[in-house]
Amino acid sequence: MKYYSLKDPSHRTSFREAVIKGLAPNKGLYFPESIPQLPDGFINQIESLSEQEIAFELMSPFVSEDISEDVLSRIIKETLSFPLPLVKLSKWLSVLELFHGPTMAFKDIGARFMAQSLGHFYRNEDKEITVLVATSGDTGGAVANGFYKVPGVKVVILYPSGKVSHIQEMQLTTLGHNISALEVEGTFDDCQHMVKTAFMDQDLTSTQTLTSANSINVARWLPQMIYFLLAYKQLEEKNAPWVISVPSGNFGNICAGMLAHKMGMPCHKFIASTNVNKTVPDYLKTASYSPVASIQTISNAMDVGDPSNFSRILELYKSDHIALKQDLEGYWFTDEQNREAIKELHQQYGYISDPHGAIGYLGLLEYLKANPEAQGTFLETAHPAKFKDEVEDTLSIDIDLPVQLASFTGNTKVAEKIRSYDTFKAFIMR
Ligand SMILES: *Cc1c(COP(=O)(O)O)cnc(C)c1O
Repeated sequence: MKYYSLKDPSHRTSFREAVIKGLAPNKGLYFPESIPQLPDGFINQIESLSEQEIAFELMSPFVSEDISEDVLSRIIKETLSFPLPLVKLSKWLSVLELFHGPTMAFKDIGARFMAQSLGHFYRNEDKEITVLVATSGDTGGAVANGFYKVPGVKVVILYPSGKVSHIQEMQLTTLGHNISALEVEGTFDDCQHMVKTAFMDQDLTSTQTLTSANSINVARWLPQMIYFLLAYKQLEEKNAPWVISVPSGNFGNICAGMLAHKMGMPCHKFIASTNVNKTVPDYLKTASYSPVASIQTISNAMDVGDPSNFSRILELYKSDHIALKQDLEGYWFTDEQNREAIKELHQQYGYISDPHGAIGYLGLLEYLKANPEAQGTFLETAHPAKFKDEVEDTLSIDIDLPVQLASFTGNTKVAEKIRSYDTFKAFIMR
């Protein structure tokens, strides 16, 4: 499989190069040159396949020219080292819990796959590679954890000052070793902009090997397909139309699900559920895409005004708005509605959700109201304890910190404050 740039389809490259470069010239995102189809019988037999076998079947066509079967099996084993349970709330409502990994956010899956792949590609290189990552909260922790002490790889994380939770900040800023954190006085979009600018900066690219670990990197983006299939495998009733609601920010997660669907995964509808950063729901309504500055909310990992992966969704549908609308519905919700949803999930189902999963729940309810014949799954993308204060205040209960999170709280934060691109650049050149 080769990958082409969405800004210049004549620019094509291998999986290895796409992972190392992160972005194509002119900030184009890489996109697979064809969409492989799942083998005949795969879907019908899915219940008899192991998680590893499912993941291998999905990922193999995308990486087989650059990663041997043995290595891919090992990478998958490392990636899926924790459970991904589908929890049933009622006959037609379920939640896929993606937060059982080391940093308790779904980004662990993509981050671990990418760290293992890059570690494999750089195992024999004598020059270090620097991973740049802008985070609105969870990416940084997952990437830091995935790459921690991976030889040959340095990680620089940019996060918006005051806009991530305390635990998230601890996960980014306390590891040390090959992981550095920069606290940016600005928004997530500013962080993302700095990273994108660095890749275009000749001074940097001529002296350093830089890559990105945001969901724009194909090694983070593609493995997210896996858990949609694992959810499907766990569905008890496979005949009723199935819809999936994805709490969305940069739209990498949902776009991976939609790619899995194009490969043959049955799914009646995807639901893009957002907070008030509603650029995509607005696009679905009006067919005009108008990115705006992001607005801060209690589901901060989704505070994105110009989602990077949206161009990939358009590519999947060849920019055919009508075809896209057939597969994708979009809804957005306020913080107030979000808190009500957290309460409702707790009262009706005894389920404690985080503010991201709750947005997914709201989008699903909205859809099921109009389509009562469907069954739905929403993705729970972070453990509620990652947003402890918000969830405790909303529910008036105490929640325990799981060991994965508790281990960070006593550590010392190390992060440099920066404001401008030039300071960022100087830091990388040091
Ligand atoms: C990153 C993140 C999201 C949004 O995922 P995208 O792929 O950027 O749409 C949702 N919830 C949580 C907890 C996240 O960390």
